Amino acid sequence: MMYYSTNGRAPQATLREAVERGLAPDRGLYMPDHIQQLPASFFDRIDQLTFQEMSFEVARAFFGGDVDDASLKRIVTDTLAFETPLRRVEEGIYSLELFHGPTLAFKDVGARFMARLLQYFIHKDCEGRPMAGGEVNVLVATSGDTGSAVANGFLGVDGIHVYVLYPKGKVSRIQESQFTTLGRNITALEVDGVFDDCQALVKNAFMDGELNAHMTLTSANSINVARFLPQAFYYFNAYAQLKRVAAVADPSNLVVCVPSGNFGNITAGLFAKRMGLPVKRFMAANNANDIFYNYLQTGQYCPQPSKQTLANAMDVGDPSNFARILDLYANQWADIKADISGATYTDDRIREAMCQCYEATGYVLDPHGACGWRALKELLQPSEVGVFLETAHPAKFKEKVDDILGTDIAIPERLQAFMRGKKQSVEMANDFDAFKSFLMNQ
Ligand SMILES: *Cc1c(COP(=O)(O)O)cnc(C)c1O
Repeated sequence: MMYYSTNGRAPQATLREAVERGLAPDRGLYMPDHIQQLPASFFDRIDQLTFQEMSFEVARAFFGGDVDDASLKRIVTDTLAFETPLRRVEEGIYSLELFHGPTLAFKDVGARFMARLLQYFIHKDCEGRPMAGGEVNVLVATSGDTGSAVANGFLGVDGIHVYVLYPKGKVSRIQESQFTTLGRNITALEVDGVFDDCQALVKNAFMDGELNAHMTLTSANSINVARFLPQAFYYFNAYAQLKRVAAVADPSNLVVCVPSGNFGNITAGLFAKRMGLPVKRFMAANNANDIFYNYLQTGQYCPQPSKQTLANAMDVGDPSNFARILDLYANQWADIKADISGATYTDDRIREAMCQCYEATGYVLDPHGACGWRALKELLQPSEVGVFLETAHPAKFKEKVDDILGTDIAIPERLQAFMRGKKQSVEMANDFDAFKSFLMNQ
């Protein structure tokens, strides 16, 4: 399979090139040049397959031409070594819990998949020979969640080194512990600045000729095809589990609601639909960052500076995967509106949703999932069955959740283990020359 750029001014790339580059040379996003439909027989027996078996079939449709079956099966099996249970919250509304992975957030799957895929390409190149040219270096700027998923996804993967840049003092202790305590091939850089400064350092590094001649650099956010595409597994999994509990007698009634920031997750769902997955429509649930919502209302896309909210992993003012959605729908606003509804909630509405759901059902939502639950509550038709993606474990936001609900939720052992670890980080001035010379000396 070849990958083209949404900007249309870069040559097509192989999967390996697309993964190693992240962004296309014309600053566009890579898209697979076709989307394979899965056969009806697959959907007939989907509820009898394990999550791993099912995901392998989905992965093969995208990556089968580039990765041999045995290796791809290994990559998928290793990536999905945890459950994503579907919980009935109330009549007609289900939560697909995507937070049982290593860092308790849905990004674990994409990060791990990308790590294993990159490792596969590096090793295929140097079978029986010592590795030529050294390592691939992943640079990632984080305001919290992406850094932990990427660091843990790549931990111990030989041939790859990860540099996580985060703003000093602006990341919660729980989050910080998930990428500063790992050691090995993970280096945490504590930048004296804000998140945007971290992001600017990373962007400048990708554009620096001397640095790129010295070392192979790539990114691991959802612009990377290997990060976002595997998230399609979740949507097939939601459908398979609903079929198992026989809740969707008529699959044409399934509505999936996705708490969205950079829109990588929901874009993977749109790909799943193109592959034949019977989803009637999607909902994109946003916090106060309402750029996509406004686009649906007006047809105008107006990026804004991001606003800080309670659901901070969705504080995005210019969602990077919007370009992919436009491309998928050939720029047709009416077609996008037909498939996706929008919702936007202020922090007050998010708090209200968390309380209402907890009081009525006992289910504890995190602030991101709360946007999803509320959108279903408000916009689901009586004949429809709704699934929202619970994108993070509420314990990742324990202080906020306890404060809002008056609870004292338990911290899973996995999270406690991170917090017991010893912090190792490198202090970094907010200065590109300092960052560059640090990297040049590695
Ligand atoms: C990253 C993230 C989101 C947003 O996902 P996108 O793919 O960027 O739309 C939502 N919730 C949580 C908890 C996240 O970490």
